[in-house]
Amino acid sequence: MNFDLTPEQDQLRDAVRALGRRYGHSYFVEKAKSGGHTTELWEEAGRLGYLGVNVPTEYGGGGGGLTELAIVGEELAAAGCPLLLLVVSPAIAATVIHRHGTEEQRKRFLPGFADGSLKVVFAITEPDAGSNFHRLGTVARRDGDDWLLSGRKCYISGVDEAQYVLVVARTEDAATGKLKPALFVVPTDAAGLTRSALDMEIVSPENQFLLYLDDVRLPADALVGESLDAGLPALFSGLNPERITVAAMGVGTGRYAIERASEYTATRKVWGGRSIGAHQGVAHPLAHAAVQVELARLMIHKAATLYDAGRDLEAGVAGNMAKYTAGEAAALAVDTAVQALGGAGMTTEYGVATLLGAVRAGRIAPVSREMILNFVAQHVLGQEKSY
Ligand SMILES: Cc1cc2nc3c(=O)[nH]c(=O)nc-3n(C[C@H](O)[C@H](O)[C@H](O)COP(=O)(O)OP(=O)(O)OC[C@H]3O[C@@H](n4cnc5c(N)ncnc54)[C@H](O)[C@@H]3O)c2cc1C
Repeated sequence: MNFDLTPEQDQLRDAVRALGRRYGHSYFVEKAKSGGHTTELWEEAGRLGYLGVNVPTEYGGGGGGLTELAIVGEELAAAGCPLLLLVVSPAIAATVIHRHGTEEQRKRFLPGFADGSLKVVFAITEPDAGSNFHRLGTVARRDGDDWLLSGRKCYISGVDEAQYVLVVARTEDAATGKLKPALFVVPTDAAGLTRSALDMEIVSPENQFLLYLDDVRLPADALVGESLDAGLPALFSGLNPERITVAAMGVGTGRYAIERASEYTATRKVWGGRSIGAHQGVAHPLAHAAVQVELARLMIHKAATLYDAGRDLEAGVAGNMAKYTAGEAAALAVDTAVQALGGAGMTTEYGVATLLGAVRAGRIAPVSREMILNFVAQHVLGQEKSY
């Protein structure tokens, strides 16, 4: 068992940390509140190769794995810049295309993922399906060689910033007549694709949208993979990277909040000569949150290591546990940090309460804590499914 990063991973961590700190949380909040995007940070991270660390070298990437991408996500978040698009574009979309796309699709899309110039967002959630993807109502029909997509998606992050959206739809199996999932790479400016922004209570430069697909016409090669059989494995291949990188961002955010609070409580004095951090009522909750964050970090390390070793099933269990633990730890850390800062905790200046909405959402999305507990109950504990 080895808990050390390799020298290259250590260097990556230090370099991403330095980049994140140069921008910092005030940059992130300023972009969010002015309706802007973190374009400068994204582009610089892309140029430096951090967004393409997990893309194979033959397509211009860093040739690393999910461990490296998790490092990037964690360190940017630990600098106060949790970039949600890192989860949807390099983690989900690049993995799906790398693992299940045709060679033509790999050549077309992976170099753009490698340098961050390409952003592809991900659309699975629907108003009438939610956690139950078996109920997806977005349908893809053949029309000659083309495909026609119709349906509705909700909470889709970053569509306004992306060139493409990877849409999960259903197609009719010619043999059985049953609907099965298929993934399509849809240009965000395609005719028939419209969107409206959702008002969310999250301070983030990345926004969520409702998407409407009204007979969106796509060429045959918009389908990910050689045939419709690629659909289900392609969909599943995005899940582990999604869970592990979102967990890494949660841990980074937790670290950020605890660091802000610890700096404050170590120097703030309101009772004579002692800092408020000397009081265990202040220090213990912070210490408890730090323990929870570190536990989540260990689980991410395990999940990413299993994934990079090609042990997908075990990575699935560890990735779900990492996502659960990190979601809870991040929410605890931010809430505890706000409390430890007192009134300052609620100000924009101290940059902690600005994360309350994001960490709360991290217990719901991209997979809710309840659905993870269902997964663990069924697949680890052998319990019957209730739904
Ligand atoms: C900030 C944010 C960004 C998002 N970005 C994207 C994106 O980019 N792309 C995308 O496709 N989606 C995105 N989502 C959607 C997200 O994945 C869903 O919100 C999530 O999967 C839950 O689905 P739902 O909201 O429909 O909740 P529902 O499925 O309606 O569930 C509501 C509640 O019931 C619980 N519940 C449901 N079924 C069960 C059950 N069987 N057992 C126990 N409890 C259950 C859930 O855990 C939840 O607490 C985003 C959401 C948020 C908040």
